Amino acid sequence: MTPEALLDTLAERRSLPLEGYRSLIEAAEALAPRAAELARKAREPIYGNRVFIRGLIEISSFCKNDCLYCGLRRSNAGAERYRLTEEEIMECADEGYRLGFRTFVLQGGEDAYFTDERLVPLVRGLKTSHPDCAVTLSLGERSRESFTKLREAGADRYLLRHETADGAHYGKLHPESMSFENRMRCLRDLRELRYQVGCGFMVGSPFQTSETLAKDLKFIEEFRPEMCGIGPFVPHHATPFASCPAGSADLTCYLLSLIRIMHPNILLPATTALGTVAGNGRERGVLAGANVLMPNLSPLSVRKKYELYDNKLCTGEEAAECRACLDRRIRNIGYEIVTDRGDFKSANAVVQ
Ligand code: SAH
Ligand code: SF4
Repeated sequence: MTPEALLDTLAERRSLPLEGYRSLIEAAEALAPRAAELARKAREPIYGNRVFIRGLIEISSFCKNDCLYCGLRRSNAGAERYRLTEEEIMECADEGYRLGFRTFVLQGGEDAYFTDERLVPLVRGLKTSHPDCAVTLSLGERSRESFTKLREAGADRYLLRHETADGAHYGKLHPESMSFENRMRCLRDLRELRYQVGCGFMVGSPFQTSETLAKDLKFIEEFRPEMCGIGPFVPHHATPFASCPAGSADLTCYLLSLIRIMHPNILLPATTALGTVAGNGRERGVLAGANVLMPNLSPLSVRKKYELYDNKLCTGEEAAECRACLDRRIRNIGYEIVTDRGDFKSANAVVQ
């Protein structure tokens, strides 16, 4: 089958064999415009030109892990560490609410300070003061028991990128103390506990190949996440991957299109990393099929310290400025940011 025909098959059946995904990835350059068109067509009846926003609150830059790609890794002695207090987190959310955010994403390194005893009241507090909002957590790997308690406290969603669906590749990106099996165990637990789950991966991470990417697509096809965060790898100067090249905006956009075609209902962010590698990266992401933006609500004083990678975008603007800037950018390409929790729409909901 030609790559063009494979793309049509994906649009019809929402599924391809591993080899099919590999061929599509290898034909990225030629197929990207057609893939973006199919992605927009798949999204249109479900989300129209609506783009959802999530307020990202970066609660801690402490991390016990040592992922080789990340500036917050434990071995980076030069990283500036901070953690927000419960009051600061609540204030960020209050400010976000005033600006029209109805989803708050609490993200951070794996910081032992944030025990269940501390997180449960925090999640409850957020849900009590803003009952019409969704709370998303992105705090790395935790025990099933912890995921259970946080879900019971009111957390609606959890973002945990799988990072790569190839076990050997996972091993090259992480220290021995971390395991692919535990990452996947977490995703399964989250799903069973009825979180809306987000997985995802970096595009252009060191040692990534069209084969590992094909496995990522097959995993996303089968796991059927409600959300999927993909963005280019961006090197951080104080990591073992400092001299590796950044991932490409073009390939990221193409993969966004393929994921949209495969799962028309999925929530797909155009990430800050995509905006970092290309000036209009986030707009290009939306045009390729993304329908979520995750601007930063963290206090200005800590923005630069949450340094996953170099040259991160929007570390100098107030939340309100970010919101206005994004509104303008998105309106310019004919889309519209909406104030809405922006829940995943299941296929049944679409038919109604
Ligand atoms: N500690 C949590 C959440 C914070 S990191 C966790 O790891 O899940 C959030 C995401 O940032 C990671 O999943 C990773 O995919 C991404 N990230 C880390 N370093 C990056 C880099 N150098 N370039 C691009 N994305 C990166
Ligand atoms: Fe820690 Fe997440 Fe960075 Fe890994 S990617 S070092 S878990 S913050």
